[in-house]
Amino acid sequence: DNVPFERLDRYTYRIPRHGKMWVDAVFYANDEILAQLEAEGYASLKQLVNVATLPGIVGPALAMPDIHWGYGFPIGGVAAFDPTAGGVVSPGGVGFDINCGVRLLTTRLTREDLEPRKTRLADALYRRVPAGVGSARRDVRWSPKDLKTVLREGARALVAQGFGEAADLERIESGGRLPLADPDRVSARALERGGPQLGTLGSGNHFLEVQYVDEVYDPEAAEAYGLWVGQVTVLIHTGSRGLGHQVCQDYVERFLQAARRYGIELVDRQLAAAPIESPEGQDYLHAMAAAANFAFANRQLITHNVRLAFEDAGFLPRDHQLRVLYDLAHNNAKFEEYAGRRVLVHRKGATRAFGPGAPDVPPAFRTVGQPVLVPGDMGRYSFVLAGTPGAMTRTFGSSCHGAGRQMSRHKAKKAARKRNLIAELEAQGILVRAASRATVDEEMPEAYKDVASVVDVVHGAGIGKKVARLRPLIVVKG
Ligand code: 5GP
Ligand code: MN
Ligand code: MN
Repeated sequence: DNVPFERLDRYTYRIPRHGKMWVDAVFYANDEILAQLEAEGYASLKQLVNVATLPGIVGPALAMPDIHWGYGFPIGGVAAFDPTAGGVVSPGGVGFDINCGVRLLTTRLTREDLEPRKTRLADALYRRVPAGVGSARRDVRWSPKDLKTVLREGARALVAQGFGEAADLERIESGGRLPLADPDRVSARALERGGPQLGTLGSGNHFLEVQYVDEVYDPEAAEAYGLWVGQVTVLIHTGSRGLGHQVCQDYVERFLQAARRYGIELVDRQLAAAPIESPEGQDYLHAMAAAANFAFANRQLITHNVRLAFEDAGFLPRDHQLRVLYDLAHNNAKFEEYAGRRVLVHRKGATRAFGPGAPDVPPAFRTVGQPVLVPGDMGRYSFVLAGTPGAMTRTFGSSCHGAGRQMSRHKAKKAARKRNLIAELEAQGILVRAASRATVDEEMPEAYKDVASVVDVVHGAGIGKKVARLRPLIVVKG
């Protein structure tokens, strides 16, 4: 069984509505990405087709060019549902790492300023920000009451306790706090798992990277963002840790029953969904928002510790001036308005990419659009893009979130066996501090697509605009 699709323009493809689909599906690709989709037997495009069969979907079902196979929904997927037309919410459409995202910090340091203190900084970052599977903080304990405040208030709760600055909050999507958050709809098990993990990176794809700006493509946007060639930046990628994972797990189970109760036909069990307006749907949305706030708070606490690590390495605050450029999530569901219609937009491994003039874009970015942060891999580069009007009309204000895997973890580990990746990266001037060598092997640059190719599709399709490229100098991994 094949997936029928047609080319609409250079980078845009449509899967016309067929079978049980309610709407068309649209995806963005170039020849290289198409060849990869074919090589995997179109497994992720079939998932996109499945998404289009869910009730109340507002078309089209979308996939960004970093699409790859995920739980139920493909990673790189964007799907909007109308709450007034039986639209559903699906935990698999948000993902297990609720509100996973990236935060970019800028400094006023140049690459040359950093060089003499690079090793010290790498060690200090690794000491200050716990990484690895099940990483936890033993130094700070959150009482159940404080933890619930974090779930309700997000990054604000951290700033209120002295972890960061009020100005940080203006530079976070949704101000670092999703409304609706209700910690009482989060299970005791989730709270237990999350409590000790606030302020930790976790493992795998999550990372903390010191970089420098090596190229600027759009000087006007770069200026608005405060980016310049040679500048040192820090990119943080992590999410809601065990807390979000447990929330997803709790609700996936409940939603299988709910789907049956509401007569929602699931072509794949992993698409378990409930009507947005149902008690189950509402419970999930309130719990998901609480987990999302934990993720915003997690990146906030890490930011605070990054600042301390720079001081450990001998940079005074007035020298480094670490500022939040933007904090952007890539796994959540949010109510937004398009063409006068309020819809619940699921983004799963896709980022919000609001264009100029859109609401919830900080005033400093209003005329150029919001920053869109696109990590690549630990050996090559990452990109900063700007949101565009095209994204607002065609992708529910969304864009890609990374390069996307092209090799399974298993295959990458095998390919890395005879190599010493840490030494190879070091020879290229990239210091690696990792909790496990296996993680570095699984995460080797070749395990990911070339993000430059993904970003070119986004830029060419007009759903994002290239602003700057960042190269790694220090990578902390789980
Ligand atoms: P995800 O959220 O899907 O787990 O990962 C987002 C993206 O981060 C991946 O698609 C990949 O392109 C990128 N990525 C993974 N590891 C690293 C890393 O160590 N450094 C950088 N810069 N990007 C990475
Ligand atoms: Mn994650
Ligand atoms: Mn992520």
